[in-house]
Amino acid sequence: MKKVLISPSKYVQGEGEYNHLNDYFLQYGKKIFFIAHIDDKNRVQCYLDRIFEKNEIQLVFGDFEGECTLDEINKLSEQARVNQCEAVAGLGGGKALDTAKAVGFFIEKPVIILPTIASTDAPCSHSAVLYTKDGQFDRYMSFKKNPDLVLVDSQIIANAPVRFLVAGIGDALSTYFEARACQSAFANNIPGGKSTKAALAIARQCYDTLMEDAVKAKKACECNVVTPALENIVEANILLSGLGFESSGLAAAHSVHDGLTVLEETHHYFHGEKVSFGTIVQLVMENAPTSEINEVLELCKSVGLPICLADIGIVDVTQEKIKKVSIAACAEGETIGNMPFEVTPDVVAAAIFVADKLGQMCK
Ligand SMILES: [Zn+2]
Repeated sequence: MKKVLISPSKYVQGEGEYNHLNDYFLQYGKKIFFIAHIDDKNRVQCYLDRIFEKNEIQLVFGDFEGECTLDEINKLSEQARVNQCEAVAGLGGGKALDTAKAVGFFIEKPVIILPTIASTDAPCSHSAVLYTKDGQFDRYMSFKKNPDLVLVDSQIIANAPVRFLVAGIGDALSTYFEARACQSAFANNIPGGKSTKAALAIARQCYDTLMEDAVKAKKACECNVVTPALENIVEANILLSGLGFESSGLAAAHSVHDGLTVLEETHHYFHGEKVSFGTIVQLVMENAPTSEINEVLELCKSVGLPICLADIGIVDVTQEKIKKVSIAACAEGETIGNMPFEVTPDVVAAAIFVADKLGQMCK
């Protein structure tokens, strides 16, 4: 049996780490191609100023327009090449980071990832989500390696709006259950092998950390302060969930998320918020122990994650809408095929209705 585990080459997390950006960058080169939305760049301007003061590194700012499209990636790759940059740094949320990964891949240079929010487990991964110019999903792209460095400054995460951290908790919540389902089914993980004991332990640790520290971390983020609990949740959202999902595999929770996106009313909700409801749906589908479902519902409730359809904008619940979601969740290539039993749209629809009711009961 072939087992595969992938991860970034280095993960660093700490309060005030962006004070040392200059030294981190120097490990990869003296000319760094920098990709960030202007708002995110402004948030870290004081740290960039330190780099300018030291004058050891040249930062070349990519003309990033905010969307991770193939055109944008090609344009920025060309800018990085012309300027003979030695490494690519991406700063911000998912789109800037994904764009940086893709540019690094095309120009074959090291990639440094600087997440300013902890809303998903994407920073550590070896893939990117591409969109069209008008913001529609285009394709997934995966690269031959994960980022060379993922550098997280916990204070920057603590300063970001709390809804991002909570959404990250929702994304991380599914990791253990999807890993467990893949293991039962002997399904492949993202790099195309079976999971390792290491990856499964990481996925379990991710869940245990959320249970222990999510509420305390949310409070810390509300106060814009860094505490041990916040540090633990930042690690769970970015590192544990990132390694857990890639190296243990995805299953129903993420497919239900994908299905939910066919309904326009869910578009205002973050990825992790929909994944959180998808996790409850997966547990219902598996007929997980009531105590486990209740534990998950309680966690969601305690941090304000969605537990029923109304919480993700679906107020007017009809058979037709749920059918559409269920069919999309079971589309070709969806990871729901990794569940250890046959899943049809009818099975998904039934689980959605029940998950919705259980969530309402918990209110
Ligand atoms: Zn996710």
